[in-house]
Amino acid sequence: MRASLFLGPGEFETETIEDPALLPDEIRVRNLAAGVCGTDISIFQGGKGSADVTPPIVLGHEYAGEVVEIGSAVTSVKVGDKVAIDPNIYCQKCYYCRSGKKQHCENLTAIGVNRHGGFAEYSVVPEKQAFRLADHVDPEVGAMAEPLACCIHGVDLAQIESGSSVCVIGGGAIGQLMVQLAKLAGAATIILSEPVALRREIGLANGANFAINPFEEEPGQAVRRIVSRGADVVIECVGHPAATRQAFEVAGKGANIVLFSVPKPGVTFPLDLFSVFSKELKIAGSFINPDTQQRAVSLINENRLNISPLITHRYGLDGVQDAVLKQMEDDSIKVIVKPWS
Ligand SMILES: [Zn+2]
Ligand SMILES: [Zn+2]
Repeated sequence: MRASLFLGPGEFETETIEDPALLPDEIRVRNLAAGVCGTDISIFQGGKGSADVTPPIVLGHEYAGEVVEIGSAVTSVKVGDKVAIDPNIYCQKCYYCRSGKKQHCENLTAIGVNRHGGFAEYSVVPEKQAFRLADHVDPEVGAMAEPLACCIHGVDLAQIESGSSVCVIGGGAIGQLMVQLAKLAGAATIILSEPVALRREIGLANGANFAINPFEEEPGQAVRRIVSRGADVVIECVGHPAATRQAFEVAGKGANIVLFSVPKPGVTFPLDLFSVFSKELKIAGSFINPDTQQRAVSLINENRLNISPLITHRYGLDGVQDAVLKQMEDDSIKVIVKPWS
C-alpha cells in the first residue's frame, strides 16, 4: 500500500510499504479521510503525541474509513461498514486503567503515533478501536469524531450549567467544536474570542451569540460588556501564554477554566494566586478522549453538529507535509488528508 511515512522532525516521504498482517481481533480499514491535528504539528516539530512517536511511522490519528477485511474473531463490525477510529489503546492493567482514569494509562499506545495510522491507503486496527458511523456520514466529518471526543472530555470537565456564560478562546477547529458543544450543553451566552474574521463568522453561524477580536478590544472588558459578571466557564483552545492570560482575564467568580490547548513543553505562566483564591477559580487540564468516542460518534450520526464548514483544506498522500504546514496557518480551520484522492 502507499503510505506517507514520518521519518523524523520535518520529514515525510510517500512510499510503498507492505500491507500489515491481520490478527484475529483486528480489522483492515480503507482510510478515506484523516485530519491533521495540533499534535501532528507538535510531532512534526519534534514533540510527542499522546504517546512517544516511533519513526518511521504512518501518522494520522483522527480518521475514518471503510472496513475491507475482518479477523476471524471480529463480531461488532462487518466488511463495508464505515467506521471512525479511536486511536488510543489502553493496557487495562495499570493503576489508572483500573481506576477510571484510562487517559493516564502507563502503557498507552496510539494509532497514528506509535503504530501506523491514517495517512496511508489502509490501516489495521483492533476491532475495539472502531466505532460504527451511519452510512450517511461523510468520511471527512467522521474523521472529526476523535477531536470531537477530546472536546467532549473537555466540556465534561468544564461542567457547563444551562443558562451559564461560556467564553471560548480560539476559533480553530477545536474552539469551533467547543462553541457547538457549549450550545448543546445549554449555555445562555457563548462568546468566541478570535482574531481571524472568517473564524468569528463561522463561530457566530454555529452557536456563538457574540464574537470578539482580542487584538482590537481588551478581552476582559469585551466579555464584561456582554456579561457583566464575566464568564462562568472559560475554555482556552489556542496554546499560547497570551491566550492563557486572556482565560484568566475573562473568568468571572467561581469560574471553571479549562486549559484545553496543547502548549509547547516547558512553557510556564505567571498566575495571580490571589484571584484564584478570592474568585474560587477551578483550573483543569484535559487530555485525550477517555470513554467519549462513542458519544462523539452518536452526535455525528445524529447530525447534531455542523462540522462540514470547519473543513477548509484537503490534500492527497503526497501532500501530507503541506497539509501539516497549512494546519499551522490562520486561513485554515481543519485540514484533511484524503489518501485516495
Ligand atoms: Zn488529535
Ligand atoms: Zn493502563
